[in-house]
Amino acid sequence: MPSPTLTPAQERTLALLRRSGEPSVFSEQFVAELREEATQAMAGFHDRLGNDTLFITKNTLGSVHGCEAQHLAPDEFEWTPARAKGQVAHKAIQQLLNWRGEPTAGELVDDALARLGDEEREFGRWVAALKPGDEADLRGRAIEHVTKFTETFPPLDRRSNPLTESAAQWPVDAPILLRARVDLVIGRPQGRESRKLIIDLKSGRVSPRHREDLRFYALVETLVRDVPPRKLATFYLDSAQPIVEDVTEGVLRSALRRTLDGVNAIIELSIEGRFPVKRPGVHCRWCPLRADCPEAALGRADESDEGDG
Ligand code: SF4
Repeated sequence: MPSPTLTPAQERTLALLRRSGEPSVFSEQFVAELREEATQAMAGFHDRLGNDTLFITKNTLGSVHGCEAQHLAPDEFEWTPARAKGQVAHKAIQQLLNWRGEPTAGELVDDALARLGDEEREFGRWVAALKPGDEADLRGRAIEHVTKFTETFPPLDRRSNPLTESAAQWPVDAPILLRARVDLVIGRPQGRESRKLIIDLKSGRVSPRHREDLRFYALVETLVRDVPPRKLATFYLDSAQPIVEDVTEGVLRSALRRTLDGVNAIIELSIEGRFPVKRPGVHCRWCPLRADCPEAALGRADESDEGDG
């Protein structure tokens, strides 16, 4: 079958993502040491947890490493079309991977909305109960997301095992679980050679937190499958540009350190009663404590972060 003609944006992205140079192979010893360090640290945390359990995700870590006072505030999260567009678009892209023929973005999004609305979980119930105006808003945003993806990201070759919303958890059962759900995974290891590419799709502006999210995914992938991914990329749909990082031992060690620091802080704050440290920033904009927080004025207003997925 002839290769599809790529747009310049697709060519540019492909050049940044493709494999080059020497094969990436991490030593067994390094992976074993990383897991041992994680296992020992978790055992120490379990002793401090009592009967509680913790689910650690990129959002938990981003929250506790942001403002600790906000981290402890009651969760007032509500779905909106702007927040939900990423979930719908990812489902649509998942359908695209296995769809026969050439569906339009609208067909894919309609199919995704129908499927998500049938799911027995909070998000599915929210989708199923959408009023016509909100549904149209969500549909339009998700179609824009999918269209930008198909126009600017290289076509996904099924032989490279592309997966969307790919979940991983470490360990299998314990009081503290690390959980990852990756927007897009391409490739799979060959023996111990790292060939997997982990990609997060983002709209809005670049944030250092996006790189930390990917590093956390790389850590969980390594702890679960023993073979680290070779590359991490945040693909910014509005600018058709990936920001790419090669996975190294240093990246994985840094991700483990940040994860353990985050778990330690969560236990100190939630179980041991430590007073939270306020860290004003862009997150002040949607903080429920903002009205009564003098530090809120130090946080930068930012208009673009809501569409973050
Ligand atoms: S307004 Fe800002 S500094 Fe104050 S608690 Fe919220 S996030 Fe923290």
